[in-house]
Amino acid sequence: MKRIYFDNAATTPVDSEVVKAMAPYFNEIFGNPSSLHYFGRQANNAVENARLVAASFIGAQPEEIIFTSGGTESDNFALKGVGYANLSKGNHIITSNIEHHAVLESCQFLENQGFEVTYVPVEPNGILNPDEVKKAIKKETILISVMHANNEIGSIQPIKEIGEIAKENKVYFHVDAVQTFGHIPVNVNELNIDLLSASAHKLYGPKGAGLLYIRKGTRIQSFMNGGGQEKGLRASTHNVAGIVGFGKAIELASKNMELESKFLTNLRDKLIDGIVANIDNVKLNGDRFKRLPNNVNFSIKFVEGEGIVLGLDLEGIAVSSGSACTSGSMEPSHVLKAIGRSADLAHGSVRFSLGKYNTEEEIDYAIEKLIPIVKRLRKMSPLLK
Ligand code: PLP
Repeated sequence: MKRIYFDNAATTPVDSEVVKAMAPYFNEIFGNPSSLHYFGRQANNAVENARLVAASFIGAQPEEIIFTSGGTESDNFALKGVGYANLSKGNHIITSNIEHHAVLESCQFLENQGFEVTYVPVEPNGILNPDEVKKAIKKETILISVMHANNEIGSIQPIKEIGEIAKENKVYFHVDAVQTFGHIPVNVNELNIDLLSASAHKLYGPKGAGLLYIRKGTRIQSFMNGGGQEKGLRASTHNVAGIVGFGKAIELASKNMELESKFLTNLRDKLIDGIVANIDNVKLNGDRFKRLPNNVNFSIKFVEGEGIVLGLDLEGIAVSSGSACTSGSMEPSHVLKAIGRSADLAHGSVRFSLGKYNTEEEIDYAIEKLIPIVKRLRKMSPLLK
């Protein structure tokens, strides 16, 4: 069966050039980068080369890049690390109500430890009003954490404006850029970012490799106890092959990002227009234009998102829905709730996240298959009288 992958926000396939770059680092250049001998030095050179590539990609200095295991760890590190290290200044953190669980649950953890967190609500298009962020600042505020683009609905936040507000108020600014790093330009100086999370597996790199950019001078403490790797900030032996793969993925992104983004925007718009033209009672989730080039997320009235995911899967098409089926109860996504979708519309959401290996033909095929699936599900729907 022909298989089509439209779930690139969940993870991307590893580019074959990345696989090739990683291969020697499993059994030829296998040393521990902390070892002083030849084997160690070779591995260390590879890690430092990836660090240079990552730093120059976002306008940072190499010593401001800390390699981690991925986006989740970087988000935890930023929030808990900055939170605890700045307790003498204050205990208040500002974030949005559509962050990834890695940020939201770190915030909830910190609340349980006595921190105070303000969750600024987004507008109905999934975008924060910077004035609302400004209003939330008080003298105890130590950190603002806002994602660059949302993983479910693709909305892109006014990071530059929020960065300026943070800078004016001498508050650290963390950005979860997991969905944008390697896809749209990110420069930590232009955007006034102090900390930035990224993850290799979202840009055709391997799983289990990520980074946290930490601006020089930022007060942060490690939350991993162990060896002295990464200037004592992130203990544990480096994932050398993963870091090399991450570096290669960034190198490829810096060459191809602009063209890829244009290509994906075309595919995205074709899919949005195709769905709107062929299926009635649909609502696009997220802003029509300030959205990731690869994100299409619709609420389709009178259907369950899960039904669409399964129906498309039977046709060989992989997408995701906005509900998480946990322990038998179908919880609609916090993001769809935050943009004001009713429970029915939140349950009827489906996300297509496109990637560089998709084609126009695949978009046509997906629309062609989606139409009868929606018709069939609606026929059976108790929601449609
Ligand atoms: N932040 C965002 C916005 C994400 O989309 C994801 C992954 O989906 C993460 C954080 C977590 O990244 P990782 O899977 O590398 O832990």
